[in-house]
Amino acid sequence: MYSVELDGVTKRYPGGGAEPVVALDAVDFAAAPGEFVAVVGPSGSGKSTLLNVLGLLDDPTDGRRLLSDTDVTNLSVAERTTARKESIGFVFQDFHLLPTLTAVENVTLPTAFDPGDASDRAADLLARFGLGDRLDHEPTELSGGQKQRVAIARSLINEPAVLLADEPTGNLDTDTGESILAEFDRVKREGVAVVAVTHDPLVEEFADRTVELTDGVLVDGVPADEGATPADHAPADPPEVDSSVPEGEP
Ligand code: ADP
Ligand code: MG
Repeated sequence: MYSVELDGVTKRYPGGGAEPVVALDAVDFAAAPGEFVAVVGPSGSGKSTLLNVLGLLDDPTDGRRLLSDTDVTNLSVAERTTARKESIGFVFQDFHLLPTLTAVENVTLPTAFDPGDASDRAADLLARFGLGDRLDHEPTELSGGQKQRVAIARSLINEPAVLLADEPTGNLDTDTGESILAEFDRVKREGVAVVAVTHDPLVEEFADRTVELTDGVLVDGVPADEGATPADHAPADPPEVDSSVPEGEP
């Protein structure tokens, strides 16, 4: 089973009278639970479009999209919002933290309309990321790397199957970038599929696999052998038991 999968996905944007722009051209892509995939390619090659389609922020023009083996190609707005909330974490390059909220409040934001208070879970996540003494700090009181860690903690508050990151180390110095990548490594070991768009060779070093987009075309986006991926951990909340897994496997 893959955590997220695109099957022959094409994304066309209207060209404003001219030819439509083909941002993704029959893309096959998959990321398994516990796999860290880096997506590289020149500017305009379709990287952001790929991330948006994977994250249900944008829909394919053609092809199929799956989340944990469930077809999520054509969902209503409400279904899409729910699926995104339950299964997808996003980390944006410029963090997208709300300036007037503390670290804990920023991390609990995705749970704002849920019953119960997620503050304790948020505090636990922040502590795990070395921010246990920064819980009540606002973003202006945090360094770039600390803000990025708050953004990662927020992306994990709903225990997603897939973590999507756009240039996660883009604005960070090498040391901070490495510590962020070490966190992604930890997250993937818990069974999350991590997909990061990047220009940073350091990300490729940490990734299990790097795929390249050129003019919307992706070569070898699906692992040749699903069994050969490092998917040795079940996802945190598997939707179905995979009958191909022998009994007694964790
Ligand atoms: P990258 O992130 O690799 O720079 P993008 O996914 O942003 O590439 O863009 C891929 C192609 O699709 C580019 O030619 C871009 O101009 C075009 N494109 C992206 N978004 C839109 C849009 N909303 N409307 C029209 N064209 C778009
Ligand atoms: Mg982009």
